[in-house]
Amino acid sequence: MPGDFTLPQLDERVLSTLNADGSRRWIDPKAVRGPLHSARAVVAWSLIAVFTVLPWMRIDGKPPILLDVMTRHFTVFGTTFRPTETLLLALLLLVVFVSVFLATAVLGRVWCGWGCPQTVYLEFVYRPLERLVLGKGAVRSGGAATWRRIALYALFLLISAHLANTFLAYFVGTDRLVQWTLRSPAEHPAAFAVFAITTGLMMFDFVFFREQLCTLVCPYGRFQSVLLDRDSMIVTYDSRRGEPRANAIERKAMAAEGKPAGDCIECSWCQQVCPTGIDIRDGLQLECIHCTQCIDACNAVMEKVGKPKGLIRYSTQSRIEGLKGRVFRYRVAIYVAVLGALIAAMALLLDRRVPVLVEQARMIGVNFTELPGGVVRSPVRLLLENRTEADVWATVRGTGDAQVEGSEVRALIPALEAMQVDMAVLSPASSFGRGSRSATLRVETGADSSREVTVRLAGPFGGGSP
Ligand code: SF4
Ligand code: SF4
Repeated sequence: MPGDFTLPQLDERVLSTLNADGSRRWIDPKAVRGPLHSARAVVAWSLIAVFTVLPWMRIDGKPPILLDVMTRHFTVFGTTFRPTETLLLALLLLVVFVSVFLATAVLGRVWCGWGCPQTVYLEFVYRPLERLVLGKGAVRSGGAATWRRIALYALFLLISAHLANTFLAYFVGTDRLVQWTLRSPAEHPAAFAVFAITTGLMMFDFVFFREQLCTLVCPYGRFQSVLLDRDSMIVTYDSRRGEPRANAIERKAMAAEGKPAGDCIECSWCQQVCPTGIDIRDGLQLECIHCTQCIDACNAVMEKVGKPKGLIRYSTQSRIEGLKGRVFRYRVAIYVAVLGALIAAMALLLDRRVPVLVEQARMIGVNFTELPGGVVRSPVRLLLENRTEADVWATVRGTGDAQVEGSEVRALIPALEAMQVDMAVLSPASSFGRGSRSATLRVETGADSSREVTVRLAGPFGGGSP
């Protein structure tokens, strides 16, 4: 009967961060202490220190990492690349991606829980500060005094501004950043707008959006089902040991009936410390960022009730099910092989990287001229790209029967710039075959750097050798 149809009832909440009525479910994870948390704190503060200090360091006068999008120069550990070196940059990106795939296949979402700036800053800067200023239990409940909330948001704003500045330093460099900071925003409104928007985005993310960035926005969590396999390390609950879970009252009842209870005492401590609001006992979920807080929490509980630690632990699905785990799998071998090939290709490209790139550039609407004495004058345009940090004088000369008009052409190529240099090459008309011929030009760009480049010369049809 159609009239009997009733809509299925939604659970109390739809997602870990969303209630059934569509409202935000605020997550206020309890603070947890334990060996894994201490180790994460060391890693987190080391990463924060590196992230903060790196833009201020100098290698040969340059920052270790500077992605200057305005001048389109990308500096990585002392070497500056121009955007034309796309193959190297593409290989570098591929190396990063495949390394993440490999790390995930072996160690699970170790990046999310230990290295991602979102986790590091949220769990080790913003959240501890919130607990400190508002006091335990008053985080989202509104129990804290107004002055505490104002003080907290002022501190958040300060930290977000500092974070935005540090982040921008990787793109504009600290020298420019200091200049901007010391001058009035009216002198550099565009730069100030970028700073203000970045600070606003930091505030939005770390104060309001929080774990939703991991659960709703970041694609990495969604990839985990294809990146992980049964032998990848994951944070997992040992259901064979923990089930049937039972609290103290249920335990007594089960004991009276002679039924054994599992080690899980249903204290929900693992849920209460979870920053993404999930229950790890439901199995591997995309919301789990492998922060290991539930491991520390459950181990503390197990210690208290006199049971062995590790009811929740780092393990693999195979091992948790009592099967033999494998570290080396086809997936891992393939990732290692691909990574090795990419690194080798990068090393080769870096080794063959020339300080000045020389290429023939196309000339439109310019033609050759036939001179008296059977000589052909062919215009040639060279593109010279200086990839070094110093201005370079380039001298172009001809070889064999193809000579540069005026015997040589000299041009000053500014550091990290590219320029076109026009010249004419004189060669015998008899050397042209079907309207063109090749010629070799020698380009000297310093006392110890000389290169030869093959160019195509336009000339008359017929006669002579091609
Ligand atoms: S913390 Fe451990 S004992 Fe408590 S509910 Fe979670 S798994 Fe069970
Ligand atoms: S389930 Fe455990 S490891 Fe996963 S996010 Fe929650 S607390 Fe962290």
